[in-house]
Amino acid sequence: MLVNLKDIFVGGAPITIGYAMDLSKEEVPGGGFPFSEPVRVSGRIENRAGVVQLHAAVHAVRHTVCDRCLSPISQPMHVEFENVLVTESQGDDSDELLVCSEQTLDMDALAKTNLFLSLPMKELCRPNCKGICPQCGKNLNDGPCGCKPQGHPAFLKLREFLQ
Ligand SMILES: [Zn+2]
Ligand SMILES: [Zn+2]
Repeated sequence: MLVNLKDIFVGGAPITIGYAMDLSKEEVPGGGFPFSEPVRVSGRIENRAGVVQLHAAVHAVRHTVCDRCLSPISQPMHVEFENVLVTESQGDDSDELLVCSEQTLDMDALAKTNLFLSLPMKELCRPNCKGICPQCGKNLNDGPCGCKPQGHPAFLKLREFLQ
């Protein structure tokens, strides 16, 4: 969604933003397409004494699998952000400042960037996920599998060699 900022920059009425966007075909930096459900974007733009401020939030549910045990994960996400919108660069631009030189705001791109920046580095179904057994494939979160503990691959090779 492109938001027209022409009026708000000259002191116009606040703008309320509320819509859903489709990110189902957007691959995330870590790989995969976790946003199969519509992502909701909401926000408000206000001109307060000449300073144009955006407060916005993105609501999404991330559908992915655990990096260790491959169990499905459905994780709600709520990402809030604030920006000061300006028509031209101020020289010492902080992250908060957003230059909208065409007097429009690409809300889709901004919401997507903020959502993707808050993705975790690792997808884990729980902080202490035990993963799957490399020998039998059992999910070790459901209990031990009874396989003999495997040594370091280098030692296994050595054992093979000595037999
Ligand atoms: Zn897991
Ligand atoms: Zn096992």
